[in-house]
Amino acid sequence: MTPAPLPTGRAALLQRLAVPHRYDIAVVGGGASGLGVALDAALRGHSVLLLEAEDFAKGTSSRATKLVHGGVRYLAQGDIHLVREALHERVHILRSAPHLAQPLPFVMPTYRLWEAPFYGIGLKMYDALAGEAGLGRTEWLTPGQALRLLPGAQPRGLKGGVKYWDGQFDDARLALALARTAAREGALLINHCAVTEVLHEAGRVAGLVARDAESGREFRIQAGCVVNATGVWVDALRRQDAEAAGASAPPLVAPSQGVHVVVDQSFSPGGHALLVPSTADGRVLFAVPWLGKLILGTTDTPRPDVPLEPEPFAQELDFILREAARYLRRAPTRADIRSTWVGLRPLVRPGGAEGGDTKTISREHTVLVAPSGLVTVTGGKWTTYRAMAEDVLARCAEAGVLPPRGPSRTAGLMLVGADTAARPPALSRAPGMHLYGAEQAAVAALPGAERWLAPGLSEAMVRFAARHEYARTVEDVLARRSRLLFLDAAEAAGAAPAVAEVLAAELGPAHDVALPAFQALAAAYAQHGRIGAA
Ligand SMILES: Cc1cc2nc3c(=O)[nH]c(=O)nc-3n(C[C@H](O)[C@H](O)[C@H](O)COP(=O)(O)OP(=O)(O)OC[C@H]3O[C@@H](n4cnc5c(N)ncnc54)[C@H](O)[C@@H]3O)c2cc1C
Repeated sequence: MTPAPLPTGRAALLQRLAVPHRYDIAVVGGGASGLGVALDAALRGHSVLLLEAEDFAKGTSSRATKLVHGGVRYLAQGDIHLVREALHERVHILRSAPHLAQPLPFVMPTYRLWEAPFYGIGLKMYDALAGEAGLGRTEWLTPGQALRLLPGAQPRGLKGGVKYWDGQFDDARLALALARTAAREGALLINHCAVTEVLHEAGRVAGLVARDAESGREFRIQAGCVVNATGVWVDALRRQDAEAAGASAPPLVAPSQGVHVVVDQSFSPGGHALLVPSTADGRVLFAVPWLGKLILGTTDTPRPDVPLEPEPFAQELDFILREAARYLRRAPTRADIRSTWVGLRPLVRPGGAEGGDTKTISREHTVLVAPSGLVTVTGGKWTTYRAMAEDVLARCAEAGVLPPRGPSRTAGLMLVGADTAARPPALSRAPGMHLYGAEQAAVAALPGAERWLAPGLSEAMVRFAARHEYARTVEDVLARRSRLLFLDAAEAAGAAPAVAEVLAAELGPAHDVALPAFQALAAAYAQHGRIGAA
């Protein structure tokens, strides 16, 4: 039987935070990296706190290309270790939440004779590296077969294709599933609560100061181990930690932004993703069917700053549309863009290098232990979050900041909502109740299960988000519990007032659900498609 979902009422969470307690481990940042560490530590029996300044997965972890993959492009770069590790981690993710992560067939259409043998052999190597963790065999396709699988592909000059397998997922909902599973294992997780300072005693990390974003209330918390998992923002906490000892911490992260554009799935129907093996600047580009739409992306543009909501550069949108036009029968234009979002990759600087070409910086993760004992993790990929967490906890134990407590128990773990009995519908399909997996009955039992506020979003889902998924604002609901902001920003703006009303009914009239801020955000996501348009 599916256990009843835990309540996530904020008053009770803050009350728990206020109780004096020395946590074994306090994690700062609720993206893939931090959530993975919190879950692994809680499963080992540690007392765990995780604080997230905004919302779980508000940063990079809701802005991925949605691929659970080994990374064909890292194979081309010869990063065999990263590819092998990711291919093996891929199956862990797919098994842990089949309603949120699934195998996805890819087709690489080929237009030059050498491409099919060249890329096909590379992809056979990909299969070999996966070994028993493989999802399906790489196959060469005739032009007719390629077009049957990818009816939207450009037929002119098509020589054939190569089909291979990887995975896809709903990144923000998987992050929530990690948070909720960690909570089930006893961890305390709070969103909209920023860590403002690392506390020290005799030069060693001893805890942190946190600030509740809603009330402004401050909390001083004791912790034996503090893990800085703040993605592209790790350098802020590292700097503060070093300055407390009169030292400095040179920047670790070289941010690189990646833009995604969303268009209707009719541009590439058929349920297969399309891989462009080599764009004009030597990258790969994907057209991925996801939640009823088609994601086109991504770019890799170095930038010096780390805004929470980065805006795309006009040339990035042009680049994506131009490359898509080379491979699709019907070229998408600015007017076809339903939403645009931008994520910042926390790439780790190679020793001493500044700026430069971020395509060539390693995608492997880095774990650093400062002289104070502050542990920082950054880099890596969503796909490898579980292995990264194991690594972080091993380093914490090695550094003597966390007592060793047996091996990791995350391999084979089913996350909250995972349904082993049913075969869930494909993630390429429009969103709906199936994304709730084993918790569908719990959602359906709430008021408003038949009242649809937007396609795939019912009143009951909003109530569930407020009661059991930590949602506090309209953005929390429409960007990350539902993915409507990412799928169709204008539709999300249209649904926002109704969502605000249900949230207010759940959270009380005194609570600010931040409707105007969401309307501004949705306008930006919708307008990006028109940036610099001719
Ligand atoms: C464009 C793009 C596409 C990608 N596509 C894929 C893909 O398809 N597959 C894949 O496997 N990987 C992909 N990745 C990589 C993957 O998304 C990232 O490696 C991963 O999400 C990083 O997670 P993180 O937890 O380290 O960082 P984040 O998700 O950014 O989390 C850091 C969190 O820390 C919080 N924070 C910051 N400061 C504080 C503070 N003081 N107190 C409390 N909280 C704080 C932030 O609000 C944020 O939520 C992609 C990355 C990009 C940029």
